[in-house]
Amino acid sequence: MSKTDVLIIGAGPAGIFTALELLRRGSRKSITIVEKGRPVEKRSCPKAKTKKCMNCKPYCNITTGFSGAGAFSDGKLSLSYEVGGDLPSLIGEDFAQEMIQYTDQIYLEFGADTKVEGVGKEKEVKDIRKRAIQAGLKLVDCPIRHLGTEKAQEIYYRIEQYLLEKGVEILFGCHCRDLIVENDVCKGAVLEDSAKHTNEQVIYADHVIVATGRKGADWLEKLCEQHDIAHVPGTVDIGVRVEVRNEIMEDVNNILYESKLIGYPLPFKNKVRTFCQNPGGFVSQENYDNDLAVVNGHSYKDLKSQNTNLAILCSHNFTYPFNQPIAYAQKVGELTNMLGDGKILVQRYGDILGGKRTWQKELSQSNVRPSLPDAVAGDITAAMPYRAMTNIINFIQAVDHVVPGFAANETLLYSPELKFYSNRIKMTPDLVTNIRGLYCLGDSSGWTRGLMMASVMGVLMGRKLSENEKA
Ligand SMILES: Cc1cc2nc3c(=O)[nH]c(=O)nc-3n(C[C@H](O)[C@H](O)[C@H](O)COP(=O)(O)OP(=O)(O)OC[C@H]3O[C@@H](n4cnc5c(N)ncnc54)[C@H](O)[C@@H]3O)c2cc1C
Repeated sequence: MSKTDVLIIGAGPAGIFTALELLRRGSRKSITIVEKGRPVEKRSCPKAKTKKCMNCKPYCNITTGFSGAGAFSDGKLSLSYEVGGDLPSLIGEDFAQEMIQYTDQIYLEFGADTKVEGVGKEKEVKDIRKRAIQAGLKLVDCPIRHLGTEKAQEIYYRIEQYLLEKGVEILFGCHCRDLIVENDVCKGAVLEDSAKHTNEQVIYADHVIVATGRKGADWLEKLCEQHDIAHVPGTVDIGVRVEVRNEIMEDVNNILYESKLIGYPLPFKNKVRTFCQNPGGFVSQENYDNDLAVVNGHSYKDLKSQNTNLAILCSHNFTYPFNQPIAYAQKVGELTNMLGDGKILVQRYGDILGGKRTWQKELSQSNVRPSLPDAVAGDITAAMPYRAMTNIINFIQAVDHVVPGFAANETLLYSPELKFYSNRIKMTPDLVTNIRGLYCLGDSSGWTRGLMMASVMGVLMGRKLSENEKA
């Protein structure tokens, strides 16, 4: 049994920026970070050698370890409050923008590229917007600072070393199993070895910060029920990852780097949007601890493919009596995995419209070759809910007006592309929950969906705790 002032669970951007800001503000509090995975320099994915996902146990190194899902992510920092989650609706849009600028400065101090994509081409952007309007889509302006997967690891390594040098204790390979909550006050957490589930230890703390990311969402859902942490069921996004040749996306890639398009296609009028565009990038597989294989995408700063990939996501909000959005999306994912024998499914857009599955040999007949070689050709429509599939088809038709060729027969659609943002933790603008001493940050809180917004929430947390110290 031990005691610390601030206990941070999860060393993703939200957790580490909490610690960083506390230090930057001269805090004298003792800080302990608990992280299930390894230090950033020890994280490695065997797929680089094996060429296929090995479904690593006890956790996936792509999403677990210091810097969280950020280290191996594409490292695109979205510099607009309109992108990255709903935190601005909690803290105010202007303040959120101010915080993005402040947090961006920290990334620059730790070595981020000074170049910002998507600015200085106003006339070309106007033309793209005009086509978007004609197609019934909204184009969101979002300057992007692209760290690149390999550079992101270097930046987070410098941050890790900085935290260690300043005396932050980081417990790697350590999993938080439970929180200690008594009479609506959080007093600490129960930890164990993340691989063997042994060596149980209890750490008491004045402030417990849960920043366990998207992967921790269903763990947190159980804790919310168990400890009466006030929350509302959140949104889940179900969609596909689309891959086309770079030539098709050339204009938007060069002008915007990432085209953030939002539409509400008929007949359902649900929100459908593009997300995480990777010019010259690679489609990737991500494995959840419960063996669910989902598709994602990333791009390197130097190594480029001939393709561009991006996600098309449909937001699902459920109403009474259903309140298990995570379970719903998981079932969709499991069914898709079952059809793909545990692998990611890929299908050509033309085959979807033509009502047939795609065969492996047909993939080699196209200009676009899958950048995820172990994806299995098949029929994603056999597992995709009708509503989501209709939304995706109609949205792709609309995007084709902005990006001619996007709705080509050979365009590849990978599935399942799922984003779990469930369980939005109820909190005040200064991040106070109904449980005294307990805070929830970043993607696990349901308020953020990206590196920058998760980092911003961490900075806010650090500020709040350091202000308490001065008071
Ligand atoms: C492949 C990929 C590409 C992406 N690309 C981008 C991008 O280009 N731009 C962008 O803005 N966003 C991107 N994202 C999303 C981005 O990485 C996340 O939004 C961001 O990392 C969220 O930060 P976080 O701190 O909330 O959580 P995370 O980064 O997920 O960190 C949570 C940490 O908590 C740890 N943890 C979880 N449960 C426990 C537990 N019980 N005990 C101890 N530790 C625990 C995990 O191991 C993890 O390290 C990408 C994500 C992926 C997977």
